[in-house]
Amino acid sequence: MIDNENKNLGDSRIKTDESLKDEREKTDEIINKASDAIESETEMKTTLSRVVGDEAIESGRKKVDISREGRQSETSNKDLIYERQQSDSARELERQEEDRIHKKERFQMRLMATAIFDKQRIKTDKNLLDERSLVDFAQETTLSLLSSEKEFHDLTKSELTTREHFIAVLSHDLKNPLSSIFLGVNLMQMELSNRTVDVTTLFELLKVIELNTANMDRMINDLLDVERIARDKFFLKTEMNNIGDLLKECVNLFAPVILSRSFLMTINKCPDSVFAEVDHDKIIQVLSNLIGNALKFSPDGSTITLSARKTNNYVEISVIDNGPGIPDEKKTQIFEKFSQVKMNDRSGLGLGLFISKWIVEAHQGQIWVTSELGKGSIFSFTLPLKGTQGT
Ligand code: ADP
Repeated sequence: MIDNENKNLGDSRIKTDESLKDEREKTDEIINKASDAIESETEMKTTLSRVVGDEAIESGRKKVDISREGRQSETSNKDLIYERQQSDSARELERQEEDRIHKKERFQMRLMATAIFDKQRIKTDKNLLDERSLVDFAQETTLSLLSSEKEFHDLTKSELTTREHFIAVLSHDLKNPLSSIFLGVNLMQMELSNRTVDVTTLFELLKVIELNTANMDRMINDLLDVERIARDKFFLKTEMNNIGDLLKECVNLFAPVILSRSFLMTINKCPDSVFAEVDHDKIIQVLSNLIGNALKFSPDGSTITLSARKTNNYVEISVIDNGPGIPDEKKTQIFEKFSQVKMNDRSGLGLGLFISKWIVEAHQGQIWVTSELGKGSIFSFTLPLKGTQGT
């Protein structure tokens, strides 16, 4: 549609140029003809008045000759002839001068007319050019507005589709643990009403309920975090923290699940007293998400290694697993909001890494993944160091 409009505009400009050229050629022709007509009419009138003037002089002379007949002497005749010759040549000279002046005047008139027309035409051309550049500018602006509106529309449309898809996934994911909790409660009621209470079964059912409640709690907290990030209401409460202590806290936090799945989790290296001013709970949240993913994606019996090292003014913390690894094309996408939904991967809501990235960047750090398919993944992030540093 836009191409058609451009073509129409180009065609109509070519037509305007052609008709302007035609019109100017016609005007030039009319002016030339009119000037030629005026000149020949003036010439005719001049010739006529000269002929009449000559005839009057001639008849005057004849009258003089008749009145002088028989009385004139030889000398006076010669004088008269000489005088008339003088007068004729003076008149001739006068007429030549008159013609010369007329010619010059006509030439100057033509020059002036041409100059006036040229000036007007240059002005018209300039106006036309100005007008065309205004039209071009307006058209360019309209086109760029149209294209950004289209971009915005596509973006909003894709965001809306992702959001709708996300809500469908979320409802499903919240319903699953809720069903498990409901089932667990029903089974416990049956167990209790039978009066044959098996304490071990009750404990197992309670564990199922606890696990599912924790899952729901994590999902709801992730959602709340995403909303707080979107509304700029996700604040950090920073204080000095020993990074080594944070890593040990995570090991203790995950000890039960590590044990239950025969995992091995170790802290590989960590300098003794590396302090950073960080929000304790939020950094634990980042580490928990990375460790939780390592557990989720690696087979039972795998190893998870935590490490920290100092680099210039930063501490670099890594969570290393020997799980399936991440393909190159997903390495950036997994840090985006709703990544799971976008990648059509149904192993979670895809908010954990997005929130982790936000937290790390809010601390002025960076987060990335190094991974090779089939060879595990290393998720690393940096935090700026502050205060007294040990080695
Ligand atoms: P979720 O909370 O749904 O797991 P995350 O944002 O934490 O979402 O992770 C996004 C995706 O990144 C995961 O679904 C998975 O495809 C990939 N991923 C994250 N960590 C790992 C890992 N350690 N090994 C393999 N894939 C991972």
